[in-house]
Amino acid sequence: MEPKKKGFFARLAQKLDDLILMRPYADEATIDDLEEILIASDIGMDTTLKITDELRERVRTDRLHYSDQLKPAIEEITKELVDKGEALKLKDQYPLFIMMIGVNGVGKTTSIAKLAHRFKKNGRSVLLIAADTFRAAAAEQLTIWSERVGVPIVKHGEGADPSAVIFDGCAAAKARGIDVVICDTAGRLHNKKNLMNELAKMNKVIDREFPGAARETLLVLDATTGKNAISQAREFSEVADLTGIVLTKLVGTAKGGIVITLADEFDLPVKFIGLGEGMEDLKEFDPESFAENIFDE
Ligand code: GDP
Ligand code: MG
Repeated sequence: MEPKKKGFFARLAQKLDDLILMRPYADEATIDDLEEILIASDIGMDTTLKITDELRERVRTDRLHYSDQLKPAIEEITKELVDKGEALKLKDQYPLFIMMIGVNGVGKTTSIAKLAHRFKKNGRSVLLIAADTFRAAAAEQLTIWSERVGVPIVKHGEGADPSAVIFDGCAAAKARGIDVVICDTAGRLHNKKNLMNELAKMNKVIDREFPGAARETLLVLDATTGKNAISQAREFSEVADLTGIVLTKLVGTAKGGIVITLADEFDLPVKFIGLGEGMEDLKEFDPESFAENIFDE
């Protein structure tokens, strides 16, 4: 049966509603069932136990008798877990160099275009660097977006050294006094050692050629891939100093649980969520409205 609920947590919301109907009392049996439901919803084991322990605590201290009363408590606990405060925002310092990383197909190039559009709308000058030199199509795609958004791009030919493109990009950004540089990269994860070396090399070039720039390294993840997105977060956080996540394709996926796991288990703030393919479909992540989605009322 199709879930009646919609939103980031559709399936979870439905299961929680069913649970509350079946188990009207906020007792241990209810919380045990809740534990199972959370684990089945892309929320990691450790995070789930943290949520249910906190819930037991609140049942005691707030004297909650009915499972219906667990709803606001669950929303509050979720909000606290995903609310990383200032870390949810991009650094408000310029020049700002944003490196976008992630495997192919997650939405890196599209998110770069959306971010560029967003900065431009706010009066910032933007420059794109096409350092995904692995496939010719990548630079072409980014070029099309740069034209649509109306921002300059620095690129080389297919197979070029990504660090050489970044070198040129930094020079261009300095010469033009650019506020925000956004750098596309190739998403190869099959060889961790290579990726680590390549990222280190790129970072060295940025440090050397653009020393005054504030830095962000954003990992782009596709929400529809569920547990794969989580394992990508694990692998990339081992090779890069990530400052945050862009979580794409979040609409209609019912995979909101990923956000909670990223925040709690990897200490990674989701800074932006992608809600579609259009240029306006990138929103700043808001913990409060996100948590309110759990019961989708
Ligand atoms: P890349 O390989 O990581 O650079 O991924 P692309 O930016 O080329 O995106 C891959 C596909 O996902 C494209 O068809 C995009 O239009 C689509 N896409 C990217 N972000 C979103 C999003 O937030 N929502 C939806 N629905 N589609 C997206
Ligand atoms: Mg791309």
